[in-house]
Amino acid sequence: MNGNAETARSAGEAEAVAEAMAAAGVAFADECRACARRIRLAHTIFAAREEWTDERPGPAWSHVDAWDRARADLAEALVINVGRAQSFLTFSLDLVRRLPAVLEAMEAGRMDERIARDFHRRLATVDSDRIAAVQARAVAEYLGRLDRGERPGRAAVDALIDEVIEQLDAEALARRRKAAVRDRFVSFREAPDGMCTLYASLTAAEGAVLAARLEHDAADALDREPDAGTSRGERLVDALVHLAVNTAAPACSTPGSDEGPGRAPIIRPQVTVIAGRGPAAGRVVFARSGAASVDALLQLLGACTGATLESVDPTPGAADHGNRAERRARTRTYRIAEDLKRRIRLRDGTCRHPGCSVRAEFCDVDHVRPFDHTDPSRGGPTAEHNLMCLCRRHHRFKTHGSWRYHLERDGTLTVVTDTGRRLRTRPFGPLARWRELEAHGRVAPDVVWPPNRGGYRLAC
Ligand SMILES: [Zn+2]
Repeated sequence: MNGNAETARSAGEAEAVAEAMAAAGVAFADECRACARRIRLAHTIFAAREEWTDERPGPAWSHVDAWDRARADLAEALVINVGRAQSFLTFSLDLVRRLPAVLEAMEAGRMDERIARDFHRRLATVDSDRIAAVQARAVAEYLGRLDRGERPGRAAVDALIDEVIEQLDAEALARRRKAAVRDRFVSFREAPDGMCTLYASLTAAEGAVLAARLEHDAADALDREPDAGTSRGERLVDALVHLAVNTAAPACSTPGSDEGPGRAPIIRPQVTVIAGRGPAAGRVVFARSGAASVDALLQLLGACTGATLESVDPTPGAADHGNRAERRARTRTYRIAEDLKRRIRLRDGTCRHPGCSVRAEFCDVDHVRPFDHTDPSRGGPTAEHNLMCLCRRHHRFKTHGSWRYHLERDGTLTVVTDTGRRLRTRPFGPLARWRELEAHGRVAPDVVWPPNRGGYRLAC
């Protein structure tokens, strides 16, 4: 290729890239503006709900507040779950009412949602008298850096905002740090493939201590068993579990047990087994000893001391069976028996309000069709096909709101909102999942028992 051809090729390449970059820039700006528009509309929805909630007749306790209504509206409109809707609503109201300079930067197509959320988070504790000056200077500083050709990362943006806060409202930083300590948490979330994800928010000092201890114990394990073939990640998890079970609360011990110094602590499990009957019976797999039938597991656990065993018949309505008189008495009594409540929680897994993920164990069990206290024979029976889990907030929402609910025998719930939209939610607890697997001709999934390197043993 001669020099002219090479120059023409480079110019063509640069032109094509420049064109795509310009289009990408326009798309970015459109995205910023679209998000700003969603924020303004979220505020409009909230304001409308607030106005109508205030004018509603009846005592204050029977009002579903504007927050709950607007949150449900947003989950429906933006096709997101209730948790995200809550977060977006809080963000939207704060931007419209408290952080207009941030919202204007979005409307100018210069700031995306992620950066705007950083501003929102970091400016949360700034005094209301100073917030206008702090945000104006922080936003101007951020946009100025972009104009100078800088592309600051998240940490740099955070530092920039904090610098401005320090200059104009230093106490806000101290307040924010105090709030962060109060907001520390540890949470466990079910994950695919028989796993669980652990999240924690710790102070930097706590994190450093914990990290040092786990690193130390994992290194020790490697020294003791250099040929174990475990990864660093596995050794860290083993160290964490070992740390937890070997400093377990004294309630784990019983007088006269064989626990004591130098012995592994005993963990007494509560085991729930969902088991089909006859040929549909599931199976359990122990990673070290292979597959076992559910019957064998039941026999083993039945001979244990300390373990609590519960076997659940997965047949829909199994808990409502019995002779006619028993059935009648049960379905026409308002109070829900504990075993029936437990069954509904096992079926539903979470609150059944569309998009809500509050775990069933923290939910109320509610009659879908209300129980008729004056004449129980007229409907609203206390039976599996008329009960569902609702968190306290959505229980109130259903009782005092104007949405309509219909539960099918398989636990599918149809909801018609006050704006006429029809939504469906399916139960997602272990019982519902077992039924789904069975319906597709598969037996219950294998339960894998992990190799026990934590130094504990089960009481069976
Ligand atoms: Zn809920």
